[in-house]
Amino acid sequence: MNTKARFGMGMLLLTLSLFAIALFDGHPVHAQGIVQVPTVIDVTDPASGLITVEITYPAALLPDDYLYLSFHMLADHPDALKSLAALAGESAQELPVETRPGVTQRVRLTDHAGSLLVRYTLDPLYFPPQYSHDEPLNAAARLTAELGVLRTSDILPDGAFAVGPGEFVYQTIFRLPDGWQAITPWPAAPDGTVPIPASSIMQTEYLAVGPFVTEIATFDTTQVVVGTVNDAGLPAALVIEILTHMADLFESAPQAEHMAVSIVPEDFLYGGSAGTLTISSNADPHFVAHEMIHWWNTLDLTAGDATAWFREGFTEYYSLRMMRDLGIWNDEILGMAWDQYGQALAQLDEDPAPSLVEASERQQENENYVLLVYVKGALFARLLDTTLEDHDRSLDEAMRVILSGERRALSNADLHQIFHDVYDGLVDDLFERYVLDGAGLP
Ligand SMILES: [Zn+2]
Repeated sequence: MNTKARFGMGMLLLTLSLFAIALFDGHPVHAQGIVQVPTVIDVTDPASGLITVEITYPAALLPDDYLYLSFHMLADHPDALKSLAALAGESAQELPVETRPGVTQRVRLTDHAGSLLVRYTLDPLYFPPQYSHDEPLNAAARLTAELGVLRTSDILPDGAFAVGPGEFVYQTIFRLPDGWQAITPWPAAPDGTVPIPASSIMQTEYLAVGPFVTEIATFDTTQVVVGTVNDAGLPAALVIEILTHMADLFESAPQAEHMAVSIVPEDFLYGGSAGTLTISSNADPHFVAHEMIHWWNTLDLTAGDATAWFREGFTEYYSLRMMRDLGIWNDEILGMAWDQYGQALAQLDEDPAPSLVEASERQQENENYVLLVYVKGALFARLLDTTLEDHDRSLDEAMRVILSGERRALSNADLHQIFHDVYDGLVDDLFERYVLDGAGLP
């Protein structure tokens, strides 16, 4: 284990969750009457780095005048779309596509009847904001001859249809090289097609394609597919062990029915990314744990106000707790990790020290505050946990109440109240000093 590389400041940067969730104002979903949109995602030439997608929009989905198709990735990657064609009806008459600046392309539909085949080729390479494009491993999605990670929000268009995104699914065939499979959270239909909800275009999900083997773990009514490639260096059994430990510790299963984890080799990408139902991560178990904890510690759980210190800091603390609890890292490695966090805090914290709420609020201002939220948030969680241990209590008690409760959109005032109630005021002073008022950690 290369501990030097693992615990540099690089690790902290990489831990920054590439958590890409857009809150989606859903349309009502009716069990009956969901339109199926036949779709092919062709990855048969992965060495090209390009995928070809064919979508057959039924007439019922098409507006009267123009079909607008938005490829969100064009905002960051304007040359990602290599070709786009629209073929109408049985005759496959080619309709004019108006290539427009920005992300939205449009197809003029006047005088056509029937379904519309939209075919495009694109490069799924995606770099998170603020990451250098010079280093391929900084990417959160990419396709090589060996393997691919694809983002639903990049590879499928969002658009103006006659019905809302809750009312259709991309019924998808993945065309892949021999021996490859697609890791997605959605169970395939008997004909092998995978129903990708149109709503997942807004809520980015990470799908992997490659020579994966899969295992399925079940928690209550939640099924988790774990895909690993042979040389990724992290066995599915260990991923499932970590997830099982989380479900035990938080006394609840992740919220959704179907979820997926894809583990890729460390030389394929740095770090990991989480969607709502999916995770893609390299084989570092601490990244995998961090991203999986976000299945409980979600953006909508603490959407109230400046709560990133809880969402990211406590997630980071628990990812290290998983490494300790399960003996994945020994005491020496854990000690080094915490030393690195202490050193990072010494560099990042200011005088006077901002409160965790203030650091969360100021994350937009500069990257130091983003890092501070992770580092100081994790160290604060550790301080709480060790303080509680001295009283034969544990931080796990509050985490269970928060992560497994019904309440959503918790604010800092809500969290303050929950910590007060769970511990009968035992940690009120710590909460006030570090979360609300601002002080340097001991
Ligand atoms: Zn995170």
